[in-house]
Amino acid sequence: MNSIMSKVSYLSGLVDGLDVDKNTKEGRILTEIVNVLKDMAVEISDISESQKIVQEYIDAIDEDLAELQEDFYDEDYEFYEDEDDNFVQIECTACGDSVYIDKDIIAKGEEITCPNCHKKIATKNYCCE
Ligand SMILES: [Zn+2]
Repeated sequence: MNSIMSKVSYLSGLVDGLDVDKNTKEGRILTEIVNVLKDMAVEISDISESQKIVQEYIDAIDEDLAELQEDFYDEDYEFYEDEDDNFVQIECTACGDSVYIDKDIIAKGEEITCPNCHKKIATKNYCCE
């Protein structure tokens, strides 16, 4: 970008140094062309600067989004851990086998069937552990 600025400045200096007669048609056109080039160089420089700022802004948003995603997936993971917490390990009163049952079932005081000996297990005694 600076190279365009310096090239235009060099060209401008060259026109000045040549002592171009600005009262001639050619001289006026040449002077106007150099002026337009100067304006364009300034404009391009400004756009380049704001482009850098926008890029930095996008990078910052990108980083924030990555953090949010990390947090989201962490919470998701904890959610599944909570799911595990909803189960309670109890021992079958008949065969002594370990049975995992949902806390909701215990809270309702429902009976369950032991998957090992197929006898009914009362869950009332395990309520609200
Ligand atoms: Zn059993």
